[in-house]
Amino acid sequence: WKNAPPTLAHVFAAGRAHDDKVFLVHDDERVTFEAFGRATLALAARLRADGIVKGDRVAVVMRNLPEWPVAFFAAALCGAIVTPLNAWWTGGELEYGLVDSGAKLLIVDAERLARLTEHLPATAIEHVYVARAVDEYSEPFANPLIVRLEGIIGAPMSWADLPAGELPPVDLVPEDDATIFYTSGTTGKPKGALGTHRNIVSNIMASAISAARTYLRRGEMPSVPDPAAPQKATLLSVPFFHATGCHAVMSPSLFAGAKLVMMKKWDAERAMALIERERVTGCGGVPTIAWQIIEHSARANYDLSSLESVSYGGAPSAPELVRQIKANFPKSQPGNGWGMTETSATFTHHMGEDYEHRPDSCGPPVPVCDLKVVDASGNALPPGEIGELWGKGPNVVKGYWNKPEASAETFTDGWVHTGDLARLDEEGFCFILDRAKDMLIRGGENIYCVEVENALYEHDAVMDAAIVARPHKSLGEEPAAVVTLSPGATATADELRAFVASRLAAFKVPVEVRFWDGPLPRNANGKIVKTELRDLFKAA
Ligand code: ATP
Ligand code: MG
Repeated sequence: WKNAPPTLAHVFAAGRAHDDKVFLVHDDERVTFEAFGRATLALAARLRADGIVKGDRVAVVMRNLPEWPVAFFAAALCGAIVTPLNAWWTGGELEYGLVDSGAKLLIVDAERLARLTEHLPATAIEHVYVARAVDEYSEPFANPLIVRLEGIIGAPMSWADLPAGELPPVDLVPEDDATIFYTSGTTGKPKGALGTHRNIVSNIMASAISAARTYLRRGEMPSVPDPAAPQKATLLSVPFFHATGCHAVMSPSLFAGAKLVMMKKWDAERAMALIERERVTGCGGVPTIAWQIIEHSARANYDLSSLESVSYGGAPSAPELVRQIKANFPKSQPGNGWGMTETSATFTHHMGEDYEHRPDSCGPPVPVCDLKVVDASGNALPPGEIGELWGKGPNVVKGYWNKPEASAETFTDGWVHTGDLARLDEEGFCFILDRAKDMLIRGGENIYCVEVENALYEHDAVMDAAIVARPHKSLGEEPAAVVTLSPGATATADELRAFVASRLAAFKVPVEVRFWDGPLPRNANGKIVKTELRDLFKAA
């Protein structure tokens, strides 16, 4: 395999070069690259013994535990199609994922197993491996198909005692199917995007070069990493089960030797403490996480001086966020990237000055990827015009698993129709205006929710904001706002409406502002669940 074109086997093997450096930090547990490698090989051997062969789907249903990357790479090394499912899903939703993918083997944590047990008979699952088995969940183990993987995966973890293993011959080529990642389900039922080894490897490569390109634009040469330099450390706030967490955060770490600091569950206060303790150099995730870090760092006294970058993507972010990062963390670079499950994570990206000069852009496409903005007939529009964004490149998946109709609608000649409304500037920088499904039309006038939300974010008292359509008899729909105020801040609906009116045309000003207690409802990938908010105004 060493001389073969790159696949996930090479990504895995790259990690072995970092030996006893720490790869995963989970609470007080520290897993070295070496122990991770041994655990993965041991689990791969186990999967093979249980009959997993090329093309079988292996479902991974866990929180961000150290066993997640072990399960991912072990299954990939067997040639299986790794099928991560959303750990936030209910038993019924998980059943949908297992049935839709036709998974044969399930690697699950004890908490989710309890949620799933009654659903297993409806699926094709033949074996269940349980990580972090705890005694309360001993009952399901009465089923002989359910195996507790002490010593390979499972608590108490004894990473040090794992046998050494050699990578067995791996029969993989870049075109082989590697993963089914489900979309976030923001606009409908989650769809399984079928990704190949080439899709994932090219995404890792493109993201790495994208960072170098930022230096080159400034006329500087990117420096070659000094092996003696302190280890980079990333705070992982996105779930592994999202393509971003897996491809953009976890996998490049195996090449770069960066440490991944994880949290079972996002908690801003705990994140601060971890940044200080682990000397985290890069953090981010979805924009709301960046907001929370800024807000908490202003109130608490932690040493966050190790931070070199705060970057995010996955959902719209207000230009105000860039200014806040510069004000609060002058030494760290803000970064923004746009992508979708169908593009194996990052598709556009920029950071530092590029981004500071265009705080409303998500950057140009990463190297060797193309973007175009098209009209309703799919014809490319000139720079500056608004239309649907389409993307093409080696990281665009070939289609959806098990959904020929949705695949035919979404993919043409390698171009993915993103469903996002955008414009490109002369230099190829992309500006996302809204999702086509979120944009509202008030008596014939288009209103991009993101623009109105960004205006609200400029108000000091606003912590969280969403614009949704309120039905109107003759105008069709009108913009309505749901707003969460910062702790201790005050503002009335009229004040906020006047604030927006001072910035945007009158027809874009929300006709109604409702206040929400606490953060707005978001799904596991940090996207506001607008369907829930729209119901608020329907009931009115
Ligand atoms: P579904 O397709 O199931 O409705 P989803 O589109 O939310 O869910 P993902 O693939 O996780 O599923 O998200 C991709 C979408 O996220 C993009 O189409 C875009 O709308 C949004 N997005 C991602 N990054 C950015 C960004 N930097 N700025 C604005 N929007 C973004
Ligand atoms: Mg989508």
